Amino acid sequence: MNFPPPSLTRTTDVDWGAIAQLLNPIETILAPDQVAKLSKDYYYFSPILAEQLADKVGDLVVRPKTEADVLKVAQVCVSAKLPLTVRGAGTGNYGQAIPLAGGIILDLSAMDAVKWVKPGRACVEPGAKLAAIDRITRPQGWEIRMAPSTYRTATIGGFVGGGSGGVGSVMYGQLADRGNIQAVRVVTMEDSPRVMELRGDAVQQVNHAYGTNGIITELEIPLGPAYPWMEAITVFDDFMSAARFGQALGDADGIIKKLISIHAWPIPSYFGALKESLPEGKSAALLIVSEADLTALNELVADCGGKVTYQKDSQASGKGAAIGEFTWNHTTLHARNADERWTYLQTVFPYDPELKLVQHMYEHFGDEVVMHLEYIRVQGNILPAALQLVRYSTAERLNEIIRYHEEKGAFIANPHTFLLEDGGRKTVDEAQLKFKQKVDPYGLLNPGKMRGWLERDGKD
Ligand SMILES: Cc1cc2nc3c(=O)[nH]c(=O)nc-3n(C[C@H](O)[C@H](O)[C@H](O)COP(=O)(O)OP(=O)(O)OC[C@H]3O[C@@H](n4cnc5c(N)ncnc54)[C@H](O)[C@@H]3O)c2cc1C
Repeated sequence: MNFPPPSLTRTTDVDWGAIAQLLNPIETILAPDQVAKLSKDYYYFSPILAEQLADKVGDLVVRPKTEADVLKVAQVCVSAKLPLTVRGAGTGNYGQAIPLAGGIILDLSAMDAVKWVKPGRACVEPGAKLAAIDRITRPQGWEIRMAPSTYRTATIGGFVGGGSGGVGSVMYGQLADRGNIQAVRVVTMEDSPRVMELRGDAVQQVNHAYGTNGIITELEIPLGPAYPWMEAITVFDDFMSAARFGQALGDADGIIKKLISIHAWPIPSYFGALKESLPEGKSAALLIVSEADLTALNELVADCGGKVTYQKDSQASGKGAAIGEFTWNHTTLHARNADERWTYLQTVFPYDPELKLVQHMYEHFGDEVVMHLEYIRVQGNILPAALQLVRYSTAERLNEIIRYHEEKGAFIANPHTFLLEDGGRKTVDEAQLKFKQKVDPYGLLNPGKMRGWLERDGKD
């Protein structure tokens, strides 16, 4: 695909002051520096996206407080054919929340209510931050099933719109797994915008669609039991011992866990706040397990030849460094803080308790691709996903590394593209495309992100 696609010209000749007036009393922001700031996410983890998206900004930020406000904004956009890009907290990594054609940034952070909590489920507004939801549900014994490592800042709407899984995925799988999102309310961009409710499998039409086919205004999400979680670090002399320990802990059905994050040296050297517990040259496992299972964990660590160097009990959680904020894509953040030449990959290795392909890649690429594994549950099996650090040289070399992984049977969700299908999905999701045709017939929602739509229009 050419970039930018020829049809994606920036919206011009719009009197944005007049649009803001029209939307009154809904909060709007016209100040260019603030609009520019609210047009960006964490796209720059990718040197390729950094180049492609640096100059992309919206024209007007709109901050609704209610679903009725969202309907009003949708009506104004449809009437004037203005592009609209939804924004949660703007922590996405693939430029999902960056408007390619300017227009309105719909910032949903003020729609942040937790509407109700019942045993095992909750109903929330999209702007609710993940940690804020837990603060309300935990006293009742429940918590969200999974969260990205941006747990403290990210919104639930943005997680569903642009995320995939994270801390908790070793127990519950990923957001796309049936049951992990129960229902959503969605505002459409039809001639007369309306609210639709999607329940059960129908939610997949808007799950991980980058806000290209509907504005989510409410979600029903499942909750899991809130265990007394403790954090631990164990270290190993070599990476493969740490990786095998990770697999063994994943497979240990009697130990309740929500994080198994494995890091080859020198990654632990980037975790400044934990450095006392991360000896030079050792590979590390960062863990969150139920405190009730501590004895079993210690026995497993000993069996696998590891050493526990850090423990924080459940009473102390919430104080000091949160171990989750060194895992998932926070690992890349810390590495880049030390050296901006690091970028990353997102990989899912095939199920293989012997970890042969992990070992091959670890040995094959040496210092160029450094191993960082996150164990997840996939259709009942525990297997390693990876967010390997990559020492970036050129786009050609990065593509060569990706191709090598794919040829050997590893799945790559490419984090160096803003196109939905070219990331993790690989093919056009016909259900999502069909839904877009129905609810966004003018293609106003986050234009340029859905390849299927661009190709359908012959706009490629
Ligand atoms: C350091 C770091 C670590 C990360 N770790 C993880 C991780 O562990 N797992 C993971 O999955 N992701 C991870 N991410 C990516 C991101 O933080 C998460 O996916 C997060 O949940 C996004 O939430 P947000 O509120 O910031 O969404 P935004 O970035 O604001 O939006 C994400 C996408 O969703 C769309 N969207 C937002 N709200 C709505 C809505 N109401 N209706 C429809 N579409 C909507 C946006 O248009 C955009 O396309 C990480 C990012 C960083 C920078």
